[in-house]
This record gives sequence, structure tokens and C-alpha cells, in this order.
Amino acid sequence: MKIIRSLTAMTAWSEQLKREGVRIGFAPTMGALHDGHRALIRAARLQCDALVVSIFVNPTQFGPNEDLAKYPRPLSQDRAICKKEGVDVCFEPTVKAMYPSGFQALVALPAIARRWEGEVRPHHFSGVATVVTKLFGIVRPQIALFGQKDFQQSALVRQLVKDLNLGVEIVVHPTVREADGLARSSRNIYLSPDDRIRAATLYKSLQTGAEAIRRGVTDGVSIQKTMLQAIRGEPAMTIDYLSVCDPSTLEPLFSVRSRVVLLGAVRLGSVRLIDNLLVTTPRRVT
Ligand code: AMP
Repeated sequence: MKIIRSLTAMTAWSEQLKREGVRIGFAPTMGALHDGHRALIRAARLQCDALVVSIFVNPTQFGPNEDLAKYPRPLSQDRAICKKEGVDVCFEPTVKAMYPSGFQALVALPAIARRWEGEVRPHHFSGVATVVTKLFGIVRPQIALFGQKDFQQSALVRQLVKDLNLGVEIVVHPTVREADGLARSSRNIYLSPDDRIRAATLYKSLQTGAEAIRRGVTDGVSIQKTMLQAIRGEPAMTIDYLSVCDPSTLEPLFSVRSRVVLLGAVRLGSVRLIDNLLVTTPRRVT
């Protein structure tokens, strides 16, 4: 496995392989790799000839009071995981190389980024959109994989690729969970043992929403109330949002029709958890 830090070396490597007819796959990450990333990397490996994984804790997607400084950075462990999973290049650009002095451009956000994470973390998606656009420009992959765990992020990336003709096929990999349903996340290590047990309540709450939909409830507000009730039983949890949305626009749905995404974000102590479930409504016999 090659480790590349230089932006120009990364582009040169990709362009050379593409001239030879190699299909380049890409999985952008912030490192602190866990089983969710591992599954994503494995799926990517199967869909390309050469796989690039980037490890870059992108400062521009963290707000001023967020956890940039304490974000875990176990680099040698991450490299070992990449090597074991058959990654061809671990791309590790420096912050200075990505954002040299004089850097100014930011990608203007589409409407899909406005609500939910966009509201709670006002700087986040502008940083994500800009770094993903830059990484695509540097790595120049034919295919890139993102996790469903960050549902709004993957919807944003799809929109960017479509609107800005970025020429990358986007594949979204299902969320990998712990045995109790908690979505794997690099931030889970910061949960206290008690909060770790409580953390699965977010997933359980989304499940109660999904069950209501499967039972035939179509009123978005009732579905949302059901999910809220499940979380209110856990007073240590603060809710950022729990919503019933159209999966293609991420606008709230007041009447559920075919496909729905249930989005949730909560705080437990200093740890923020996000999760979602895609639900297909049952067919009704008319
Ligand atoms: P991150 O390092 O958190 O930026 O994540 C890198 C990629 O891995 C993103 O596309 C995430 O959506 C994806 N990812 C993170 N956690 C999971 C998970 N539990 N299951 C599936 N994909 C995930």
C-alpha cells in the first residue's frame, strides 16, 4: 500500500492508472477507522480496480465549539486497517496543502443541506461540500463510496455531483451497527459506559417510527411523536431533531406515501449521535 501526502502526486498516480484503463474507487474518511469504515472499504474494493482511501480530519467542517482538537487520530492503526483491506493508496494530505494561505473558494450549498445537520451545525456542510469537491478534483475517481449513516451528507454529495457535473458515480453503503443497534461512529469511544448503554435509544426511537409506518400510520406528525416518546424515556438525552422526511428532498413529510427517511440527532453528555432509517411504506390493497 502506498502512502501519498502530496496533492500533485495523488493526481499523477490516478491519471497514470486511468490511462492504463484502471477504474479508480475512492472512500473519503476522517480516519479513526471502525467496522463501518471497514465495510465501506470492502464494498469499494469490490467495485473498482484500484482503491484510494483518504484520511483527512477536515477542519472546515467543524464549528468553533466542536471537537476538532480532540477528534481521534490513530494514524498507524488506520494505515494497518487500510493495508489489511487491500487499499492501494492511503491519501493523507496536510491541512496546509489542502488550505494554503490565500485559499478562498467555498461551494454554495443546495437546498438539501439547509435543514437538520445544516441547521444545528451551520458551518458543517459548507466544509463538507468544499472538501469533497476538492478531494474529487485531486483523486479523480470514477466511483466514490459514502455511508448511509450520514444520510444528509450522501444526499448532498449526490446533488453536488449532479449539479456540478463532477463525473463520479456515488454509491451509498448501508449503516453498520453495534449489536444493540447503535450506529458505529468514531465518536462512540467518548461515550461513558452508562451513556454507551443509553446511546442505543436513538436507533430504538427510529425503529418505533418505522414500526408505526409499517402498521399503516401515515401522519408525519404522529410518527414523529412516537419517536419523541421513545427518547423522552431517556432524560440524559437531548434531542437536536427527529424528523420524518422525503428521502430525495429531505423536506418534512406531513403525509407519508412511498419512501420515507427518519432522521435523528441527539446529544449524550458531550457526544453527538446521528442516525437514520429508510422505510418503504406497505402497499395498500385498494
Ligand atoms: P467519517 O470518517 O466519519 O467522515 O466517515 C467516512 C465515511 O464512512 C462516510 O461516508 C461515513 O458516512 C461512513 N461511515 C461512518 N460510519 C459508518 C457506519 N457506521 N456505517 C457505514 N458507513 C459509515
